[in-house]
Amino acid sequence: MTPDHGPLLYEGKAKRVFATAETDQVLVEFKNDATAFNAQKKAQLDDKGRLNCQISARLFELLEQHDVPTHYCGLVDDTWMQVRRVEIIPLEVVLRNVATGSLCRQTPIAEGTALDPALFDLYYKDDALGDPLLTEARVQLLGVVKADRLSAIEQLARRVNEILCPFFAAIDLQLIDFKLEFGVTSGGELLLADEISPDTCRLWDRRSADVNDRILDKDRFRKDLGGVMEAYGEVFKRVQSQCPNPRNCL
Ligand code: C5P
Repeated sequence: MTPDHGPLLYEGKAKRVFATAETDQVLVEFKNDATAFNAQKKAQLDDKGRLNCQISARLFELLEQHDVPTHYCGLVDDTWMQVRRVEIIPLEVVLRNVATGSLCRQTPIAEGTALDPALFDLYYKDDALGDPLLTEARVQLLGVVKADRLSAIEQLARRVNEILCPFFAAIDLQLIDFKLEFGVTSGGELLLADEISPDTCRLWDRRSADVNDRILDKDRFRKDLGGVMEAYGEVFKRVQSQCPNPRNCL
């Protein structure tokens, strides 16, 4: 059911953001649209919106219980979440525990190499430029965020990793890498925003030794492995076993 909402404020590849009666809160609708390779590959995946919304809600609540400030207010419906209104910082913040994906395409680091401490990578959130890799100097040059805010972002991202790794390990999932986005409220508060889901994390199933079968995230879509929604459904089932009752906003 579609909740009451105000005008559409923003539409991204996987979500729509709507105004609410409260100026400091917005409603996020998770869509079934799947995209990869900067939207060169597209599909509709039935139930993706619901699964990502439900997984994200539970992970945001978990992080909040560990004092990570997030935009999450509560679930409103299967595919709808109420969040605090923020201005998104145009950075894709990636933490990598195991080398794979673009790191292995762009460097000679062998696939599967453990990265300890986790590698903190920054990308400029700009579809037209293909989300290029940044250096901290380039972040300063572009004026995206000041140095102290960037260091707060790195600390929060590392904290998120410290919380999520053992959480996923307890449900036999290995957190390989993930992407976060941060935003700033009208009052200047830095919050973890966007989503945390199999669209934005690589999760490998510890119950499977097969290099393809163990993939329970968007790489199934990127690599045409099939069973994409079954994989997301499995992640949801395991997350739900730990966090059965997320907060409802209504
Ligand atoms: O492709 P790459 O290896 O750089 O991705 C690192 C992590 O960031 C993966 O978990 C991937 O799903 C996520 N990511 C994302 N959105 C992007 C790029 C990467 O969620 N635009």
